[in-house]
Amino acid sequence: MEKIAIVWLRRDLRTHDHPALSAAAASCDRVVPLFVLDQRLLDGRFASGPRTAFMLGCLRELDGQLEAIGGGLCVRAGSPEEVLPQLAEQLGASEVYWTSDVSPFALERDRKVTEALKSLGVEAIPSPGNFCADVSLPRTKNGKPFSVFTPFWKAERELPRRPVLPAPSALQLPDGLDRGELPATPQLGKQLREPFCQPGEPAARAALELWLDGPIDSYGELHDNLSGGTSDLSAWLRWGCISARETEQRAQERGGEGAEAFVRQLAWRDFYAHVLLMFPDNMKLEYQEKFRRLEWVDDEQGFAAWCEGQTGYPLVDAGMRQLAASGWMHNRARMVVGSFLTKDLQIDWRRGEQWFEEMLLDAEPSQNNGNWQWIASTGVDPAPYFRRIFNPILQQQRFDPDGDYVRRWVPELAGVPVARLAEPWKMSEQEQEQAGCVIGRDYPAPVVDHAAARLATIERYRAVAPPKD
Ligand SMILES: Cc1cc2nc3c(=O)[nH]c(=O)nc-3n(C[C@H](O)[C@H](O)[C@H](O)COP(=O)(O)OP(=O)(O)OC[C@H]3O[C@@H](n4cnc5c(N)ncnc54)[C@H](O)[C@@H]3O)c2cc1C
Repeated sequence: MEKIAIVWLRRDLRTHDHPALSAAAASCDRVVPLFVLDQRLLDGRFASGPRTAFMLGCLRELDGQLEAIGGGLCVRAGSPEEVLPQLAEQLGASEVYWTSDVSPFALERDRKVTEALKSLGVEAIPSPGNFCADVSLPRTKNGKPFSVFTPFWKAERELPRRPVLPAPSALQLPDGLDRGELPATPQLGKQLREPFCQPGEPAARAALELWLDGPIDSYGELHDNLSGGTSDLSAWLRWGCISARETEQRAQERGGEGAEAFVRQLAWRDFYAHVLLMFPDNMKLEYQEKFRRLEWVDDEQGFAAWCEGQTGYPLVDAGMRQLAASGWMHNRARMVVGSFLTKDLQIDWRRGEQWFEEMLLDAEPSQNNGNWQWIASTGVDPAPYFRRIFNPILQQQRFDPDGDYVRRWVPELAGVPVARLAEPWKMSEQEQEQAGCVIGRDYPAPVVDHAAARLATIERYRAVAPPKD
């Protein structure tokens, strides 16, 4: 009798280096790659028009990749706990494969699916594939999960790695299968004017090749440069259009200092996945209990100015406008805008997390939450809060010295001389006229005074966590 498997795809939208897909292809005669459109995710707490559009684009590309090897994508809508057992029963499938994940939502959903399948005698087979290594394994010398990056990274890089797999050479669907259809891209919520990257595996693999072909060598020196110098791979890694494991191995094969720095940065992704897996409460609460007592300011005007890139601080505004237009933002800018929201405006980090989830193509709960808690000084990898308050003026002068990034995203500052670009409000009236940028008319005055806000924030954090003698 023919053996049939379902491969339940989630955020592993590729054919290369896909352990679940390869295992199913090796052990079964017919393989059904399935995507379930789950309304709880599409409309839920972290719903996003830009990311849904990107995801559907990735799925369309994947369908083409699968058809090229004789298979094709099967699409259903509903809750996986119901859809998977139904389809398995209907097809007579004996096995369901998927790529394991780390969020509390995913773990609970997968547990329910496993139970439902088990009651039908169908085997559930979770597989690796989302990370460079098994993020459930690393432990400190005391047997505890890690909460500091560098020791995590040292432990994780010693872990064994699975081999990188080629795409299956052939797949066969069951005869007569109703494959269902992907919906047209809905015009949900916010739209991107110039999406940061093309969805799908072919675009991701082409970008990886280009990155490895040269730019990676300068990663160590240029990764903080706001106008470029990083790989730009995050949205594809988030959706699994390329595997992190393959990316890591290919960079290691390339070798050199740039590649080493890049591989270390990639390990942050595994670190935050480990952290959420080990500390699921982080999804809602501050990791550091003492900071659960912090008081946040309710400032709707400040929040709107931040979202719209109208704070009067050019680097903050450039970052927020890059996000709104393209669905992506440079890491250095993410840190500056995150610090600005939580430390200058004193607005709850969860509001920033939520906005990023709405807009970022690469937003993913473990990464977004981990990074937001890091910048709010409430999370893992702690540093004293008074050290993690970014000065948006100095950051701009250091990481955008020629002003290319700021001028690209805040065009009303195009005529402002570079010496004035980080503090345009300091221009005299005559300079403002000459630059074609009158503060308060063409570009806002700062919504807050950074120096004063810094002191207020130190007081606020000190009030709930006095420094030890
Ligand atoms: C407040 C805030 C929120 C963030 N939210 C997300 C998010 O939702 N999803 C996300 O993928 N990244 C997030 N990041 C991390 C980081 O900004 C992006 O991964 C990076 O900018 C992506 O650009 P790149 O691919 O060119 O990165 P590169 O510098 O080329 O790095 C290569 C890869 O390493 C990983 N990486 C790099 N830096 C980090 C980091 N700090 N944390 C985790 N992984 C990292 C990413 O997968 C990235 O693609 C956030 C950072 C901050 C400060």
